[in-house]
Amino acid sequence: MEIACLDLEGVLVPEIWIAFAEKTGIQELKKTTRDEPDYDVLMNYRLDLLRQHGLGMNEIQEVIASLKPLDGAVEFIDWLRERFQIVILSDTFYEFASPLMKQLGYPTLLCHRLESDANGAVTNYKLRQANPKRQAIVAFKSLYYRTIAAGDSYNDTTMLGEADAGILFHAPQNVIDEFPQFPAVQTFAALKQEFVRASNRDIEL
Ligand SMILES: [Mg+2]
Repeated sequence: MEIACLDLEGVLVPEIWIAFAEKTGIQELKKTTRDEPDYDVLMNYRLDLLRQHGLGMNEIQEVIASLKPLDGAVEFIDWLRERFQIVILSDTFYEFASPLMKQLGYPTLLCHRLESDANGAVTNYKLRQANPKRQAIVAFKSLYYRTIAAGDSYNDTTMLGEADAGILFHAPQNVIDEFPQFPAVQTFAALKQEFVRASNRDIEL
């Protein structure tokens, strides 16, 4: 059997921190790893901002529940789950993603965790493991599953390289140019075709 491993943000749902910043009007939350390469510094900066604005777990989830998956994502997931086992490999947090996962029909999600206190204030974050996307593929391979992975950005490329087949989806041109070994597509229709092509079974579109 084959497992379809999908990145979440930029593939099925919007970039969650960016969308969250837009919904709440907190512009400082738009800072990304491109502006602050030290992830620990960036996350502590974000958690400080949440505290300053009095946004605890409940408020965060309320805002995120008002976000929608990307156009066509729900139909794509429904198509995919009839043909593959689906696992979402993401660098987001369960507490952030869960309102969006509900809209996607709760596919299996492997990602990180936020910690909160009794009042719901976010106190810390816990990364699942180092290089989590690639390690998940290594684990599935040890179970003799074939893996086909799709993602949009730099943090997906070790996953795409480790998988039996890797696909760039919605990737910016600099990532496409830097990783020409992966097919790159921009629409869900084309992504379906890439999964069909990458499969070692005869599956229908
Ligand atoms: Mg992404």
